[in-house]
Amino acid sequence: MSLTLHVDGPRWREHLLGVVEQTPGIVPVAKGNGYGFTVGRLARRAQWLDTHAERTGSRVDVVAVGTYDELPEAASRYDGDLLVLTPWRPTGQDVEVAASLGTRVVHTVSRLEDLGGLTAGDPRARFVLEQLTSMRRHGMHRRELQRAAEVVADAGLRGLRGVAMHLPLGTTSHLSEVTRLLNDVVASGLPTRTVYVSHLTAEELARLRSSYPDFTIRPRVGTGLWLGDRGALRVRSTVLDVHEVDRGDTFGYRGRSVPKSGHIVVVSGGTAHGIGLEAPTGEQSLKARAATLARGGLDAVGFVRSPFSIDGKQRLFAEPPHMQASMLFVPSGARVPGIGEEVDVRVRFTATGFDRVVVS
Ligand SMILES: *Cc1c(COP(=O)(O)O)cnc(C)c1O
Repeated sequence: MSLTLHVDGPRWREHLLGVVEQTPGIVPVAKGNGYGFTVGRLARRAQWLDTHAERTGSRVDVVAVGTYDELPEAASRYDGDLLVLTPWRPTGQDVEVAASLGTRVVHTVSRLEDLGGLTAGDPRARFVLEQLTSMRRHGMHRRELQRAAEVVADAGLRGLRGVAMHLPLGTTSHLSEVTRLLNDVVASGLPTRTVYVSHLTAEELARLRSSYPDFTIRPRVGTGLWLGDRGALRVRSTVLDVHEVDRGDTFGYRGRSVPKSGHIVVVSGGTAHGIGLEAPTGEQSLKARAATLARGGLDAVGFVRSPFSIDGKQRLFAEPPHMQASMLFVPSGARVPGIGEEVDVRVRFTATGFDRVVVS
């Protein structure tokens, strides 16, 4: 009786191996809700991918987690290096969790002062220096990178693993920006030729590698890896209850009345799973909406489209989703699913917590 992510195991694993094969130097990203799979499951899968290095031609020797808090869940299931994407700050959690994992952690340093702070506490700490990109999230400008290079040299720091750049999702080409950033790395005098990048296409990666053959380019990939073959993934909710209703019957937390006869279908999956109200899809123009109202459609009486579909037809919420279940309205005439039957749900994987993940 759950919201379940069903994974076509053979197809998914084949996809993962294919991505690793086509993405030399890949750094799998396992963060947040683990793209729906959980961080722990992805860490275990990264370990499995590394055991297939002979087939893919690529070791998976580092996994990226989002935060220091996520380190323990990944560290117990994956035994390579763990890159923390959120920049190090001189606060308790960052210092303590990392200390317990010793040399496996690779920190991200995005401010000059943090380079001093991190290495004052642990001179052997391993780190990447983040460059500020057009995203303007975290990172150092050219001058700060130069200063960082001086600090690394003066203090004899040995932990520098590379530089990192986080690029916006590509609408236009990233190449000119990356070229400028790589030139900044060269100009800074930093003793590294490894760069961790995100959101570059295969073609962009190939062009960078041929323009900068002395650099090792390591693409961090989450979505394209874990969720890259949607056809291998199916999300299903369980029908928990069904009630026949007549026009005027009341239901739900708000005691609303049913606009016409049909069934209230209660399904698993609610706000706790990340199920939310959907904006109407398709025609959204004022004119289209006016036409819907004129036809007296159910959305005209305040029912909102839900992400659940029954027999391929997207159904409306009878009221906003509850904590763990949702009430749908199925007008009379349509087939009514039985209790225990599973129905399809469309979700945003990065915002959904499943009760169960079943990998075949
Ligand atoms: C999340 C994240 C990625 C991976 O992004 P996807 O779009 O899921 O591939 C890469 N780099 C950084 C810094 C991130 O935060």
